[in-house]
Amino acid sequence: MATTTSTPSKLSVIGAGAVGSSLAYASLIRGSAEEIALYDLDGKKADAEVRDLCHGTQFTPSSGVIGGGNIEVVKDSDVVIITAGAKQRPGQTRLDLAATNVNILKSLMPQLLEQAPDALYVLVTNPCDVLTVVAQKISGLPTSRVFSTGTMLDTSRLRFAIAQVARLSPAHVHATIMGEHGDSEFPVWSSAKITSIPIRDWVDSTGKRMFDETLLAQLSDEAMHAAYTVIEGKGATNYAIGLTGARLTEALLSSKRAVFPLSSVLNGWHDLYDVALSVPSLVSSKGIERVLDVPLDAQEITMLRRSAATLKESLKALGF
Ligand code: NAD
Repeated sequence: MATTTSTPSKLSVIGAGAVGSSLAYASLIRGSAEEIALYDLDGKKADAEVRDLCHGTQFTPSSGVIGGGNIEVVKDSDVVIITAGAKQRPGQTRLDLAATNVNILKSLMPQLLEQAPDALYVLVTNPCDVLTVVAQKISGLPTSRVFSTGTMLDTSRLRFAIAQVARLSPAHVHATIMGEHGDSEFPVWSSAKITSIPIRDWVDSTGKRMFDETLLAQLSDEAMHAAYTVIEGKGATNYAIGLTGARLTEALLSSKRAVFPLSSVLNGWHDLYDVALSVPSLVSSKGIERVLDVPLDAQEITMLRRSAATLKESLKALGF
């Protein structure tokens, strides 16, 4: 009788800095993958992080954590999340980081592909939209298999901010930030809802509308600039992006399809070509199955085009 053997699902995290180690930790606690590998050029740091993570595995659903400074730890991964690179310094824009991180990616991508030719590749390193185009071009992988967390984190920040005002769980807030993971991103207020009620119609206990245009602008500003405040206070943002990566990994390793705002190279969506920015995307173990045609009003379409133009300019400046 034929027997079937299934290999454990494997997530590899590239870069064991603040983001990479938090992503591995969040994935370990949530049981996002059966095996987790952590790789960093700084082998001593990666090794120490792996040891620390392993020492808690008595209390976690998944138990396999490996890693270090040898790229072979990535071998046969199903999902590879790249967090390696130089990080944003206080006051520095994400696009300023571009040239350094493009060069890191140029050397990393071929090595990773050699170890994990069938993996889905997720960019977290900034500027993540620009690096998604670069990674796709370097690798030649289908656009469904190389993408970025994009505005998935920013969307979580926005939902948190709205939920604080409405005093309910973020799970009941349906609002999305689209575009660049950066200064030209924008919230899609035209379809934002709390439960099934359009956000502008949400009222307080006295029947007064809560979300006027001033408050909406304030909330979107808060979500968009949250990273700068956190970086100023502690030098990095790590926990929320760690959870974001863990949740995305679960969707990519599962048979249940999910929708998140993710950044992949677009081929004609809204007439946009050769640029990656975040659009609600249907994901599964095949990667991004399709980008969705969400309704946008005229102002949102203008902001979408502006965001794409900003990113195209950066790509052009970098020679892509
Ligand atoms: P960090 O400096 O703490 O860690 C980066 C790690 O990458 C270091 O340990 C470094 O040794 C390693 N590294 C550098 N080059 C490497 C290479 N070629 N191979 C393997 N490892 C290498 O930085 P961090 O705070 O962890 O941030 C990492 C990146 O994530 C930054 O670009 C940051 O802007 C980005 N980030 C993105 C989001 C998002 O939503 N997309 C959120 C937070 C941070």
